[in-house]
Amino acid sequence: MDIEDFDLLVIGGGKAGKSLAMDWAGAGQRVAMVERGMIGGTCINVACIPTKTLVNSARLLALTRRATEFGITGAETPAIDLTLLRERKESVVSTMVAGQRKSFLDSGMDLVIGQARFIAPRTVQVTGDDGTLRTLRGTKVVINTGMVPFVPDIPGMRAVTPLTSTTILELESLPASIVIVGGGYIGCEFASMLSIMGVAVTLLQRGPSLLPREDADVAAAVATAMKNDGVTIRLGVEATSVSRASGSVSVQLSDGSEVSAGDILVAVGRVPVTDGLGLDAAGVELNDRALVKVDEFLQTTADGVWAAGDVAGSPQFTHASWNDFRILKSNLAGGSWSTRGRLIPYCVFTTPELGRVGMSESEARAAGREIRIASMPVAAIPRARTVGELAGHWKAVVERGTDLILGVSLLGHESSEVIAVVQMAMLGGLTYQQLRDAVIAHPTMSEGLQLLFSDAFLEQ
Ligand SMILES: Cc1cc2nc3c(=O)[nH]c(=O)nc-3n(C[C@H](O)[C@H](O)[C@H](O)COP(=O)(O)OP(=O)(O)OC[C@H]3O[C@@H](n4cnc5c(N)ncnc54)[C@H](O)[C@@H]3O)c2cc1C
Repeated sequence: MDIEDFDLLVIGGGKAGKSLAMDWAGAGQRVAMVERGMIGGTCINVACIPTKTLVNSARLLALTRRATEFGITGAETPAIDLTLLRERKESVVSTMVAGQRKSFLDSGMDLVIGQARFIAPRTVQVTGDDGTLRTLRGTKVVINTGMVPFVPDIPGMRAVTPLTSTTILELESLPASIVIVGGGYIGCEFASMLSIMGVAVTLLQRGPSLLPREDADVAAAVATAMKNDGVTIRLGVEATSVSRASGSVSVQLSDGSEVSAGDILVAVGRVPVTDGLGLDAAGVELNDRALVKVDEFLQTTADGVWAAGDVAGSPQFTHASWNDFRILKSNLAGGSWSTRGRLIPYCVFTTPELGRVGMSESEARAAGREIRIASMPVAAIPRARTVGELAGHWKAVVERGTDLILGVSLLGHESSEVIAVVQMAMLGGLTYQQLRDAVIAHPTMSEGLQLLFSDAFLEQ
């Protein structure tokens, strides 16, 4: 068996792994990156990029329907053309994939297309699509294999071949109706965009509110926005069995009722890609959540092997994996950059969107923090008036005594942009008064932060 040796061997070209591979290869190190097919990883191919491209079309459709309100006539009956929509999405994705492939090759790395499996410490066998085998060994190894959608073992579910967040992107026609199982971020994003596109959506959620990680009032505000766009939300119900007959899917629910629709999307979570990786042979252990066990420096239980991104239990966002890259770049060179205490914002691209950073009110109370709550309708912001986007609510958690901002939940127009302003204030240790009293350009959504932290909206 011929073993090819490298300074760095990356298994799975996710955000962290591909960034590190390019960085090391560009610096003249011998690098191999094994990727089983999705050049650029999950984000670009089947997650953030295609879904947000589609969300943009849904929003444009919603706005166009309101064209006369903005003094524009001649656009009264806009409609989705799924062929054109898919073409645009595919062109955005393929342009980015091509750019990535070029960057990988330009960096000088050995891009190995195939399925990797450990056969010994720091050593993998790669099976190419044509069955060719290569054996690669790294002085240092990074595992970045990501996650894939989880399909629960509900009677009948697998037999109806439900859509997942990946396969729904390939649909050639929109169903007239759909039932979405799971009211987390992915379920809510699809429910929101499909409903705007004219699909009759029923969203099922096992727990008492959508987006279980959010405060109940924030989740309720998201639910209200979706209901206003036509989504039927069923809380506190579980799918107990699923069947398909004459072009329709029926879902039996725990409360004895039944929901039928043209199709079904399962969005109840994602599972780490560790099966078939041969981790035992590498001495890499899993934790009790079946994720690759890493310490705060992203080091696994095997010498010379690190892991990053979703598979290592980092928060399931591309920007978290990107931050893992920075940590790995430091730590593989002997540093000790820790994942502890990272401030990781996130956004839920419903319409309107939710931007989140820091602690929620319930998290702050559970941690025993003395807090004040600021709460304000988005309609109070002048910019929201000019653009006619009045839906949503902003909420902030401020610590009594220190006056520091502990976190915010911003539901409303352009919240995914405004959230970075708050994040910078938090990173810089600004008090709420310093943010409130800063000169912020008018009329912008960010300017709304001055209102949020004013006496009118911050409880005393
Ligand atoms: C529908 C959807 C929407 C999302 N939207 C957002 C968003 O808006 N913003 C955001 O920040 N996050 C979003 N996410 C989450 C984000 O996509 C993930 O957190 C991120 O892509 C994880 O990247 P990663 O570095 O862990 O690895 P990934 O990008 O998942 O890459 C893993 C790679 O490993 C490869 N691989 C796996 N096993 C092997 C093997 N044995 N051999 C070789 N290669 C292998 C895979 O093909 C894959 O390319 C979304 C996710 C979904 C599903």
